[in-house]
Amino acid sequence: MYIDLHIHTTCSDGSLTPSQVVQYAKEKDLKAIAITDHDTIDGNEEAIKEGTHQDIEVIPGVEISVDYSPGSMHMLGYFITTDDTALQEKLTLLQGSRADRNPKIIEKLNELGLALTYDEVVQESGGGQVGRPHIAQVLVKKGYVKNIQEAFDKYLGKGAPAYSDKFRFGAEEAITTIIDAGGIPVLAHPFTLHCKDSKELEALIKKLVSKGLQGIEVYYSEHNQRQISQYRKLAEQHNLAITGGSDFHGKNMKGIDLGTGRGNLKVPYRLCENLRSLLNERH
Ligand SMILES: [Zn+2]
Ligand SMILES: [Zn+2]
Repeated sequence: MYIDLHIHTTCSDGSLTPSQVVQYAKEKDLKAIAITDHDTIDGNEEAIKEGTHQDIEVIPGVEISVDYSPGSMHMLGYFITTDDTALQEKLTLLQGSRADRNPKIIEKLNELGLALTYDEVVQESGGGQVGRPHIAQVLVKKGYVKNIQEAFDKYLGKGAPAYSDKFRFGAEEAITTIIDAGGIPVLAHPFTLHCKDSKELEALIKKLVSKGLQGIEVYYSEHNQRQISQYRKLAEQHNLAITGGSDFHGKNMKGIDLGTGRGNLKVPYRLCENLRSLLNERH
């Protein structure tokens, strides 16, 4: 009985709709999933509805981008109340800044001599949130780069010439936003924090715990065995819940499949039950 608690849909930068994700989860024989789109909870309602048809548990979720450097910090939220208006308002703010950022990126690309328009990128997104993966796809189609990776390396990644930053919450605000909406805040894929050693990571985790952090994403497509045991130990030491997921984006992230990640990901169902009992302890 396996689960996948880190999934993107067309509501952010995934290629499958929320219903399609649930149907695919059924095909893959998963018992529970969570939709964790970037800075939006819009996909949850549709996924939960389809989940009842397919008899799959769908946990309402979100993935909030946090202002952090040198790496990147993402905060997952599970069991959030999806009709929480305060949460909706805060996420709308974040999405607005994401939308503002795209024209800036395209302007920079134009200045670099690459001909593309905002309309072409919107068309590529198929109606969901517009993001850098869609800009990258247009660049591939037009032959400016060979693939998405090259688009990020040469133009769109942090530090590259067409990179434009967006407004983000601080870690504390992201954690509080999730808790206020009834959810459990979980630190996503710790390896992207780019901590220089385990001491630095532990200090950071301690700080986040003091702000209300309740879990760590231990199982993840890009985590190796050493990282998994390191993060598991940290979670145990600080009495944090352990979660896991693939970060599935459909065809927008090649090589990562639902539930199994790069092939050997296995997230047991009991992690889902642990999260639920954490939630029940509050009431
Ligand atoms: Zn992430
Ligand atoms: Zn993600």
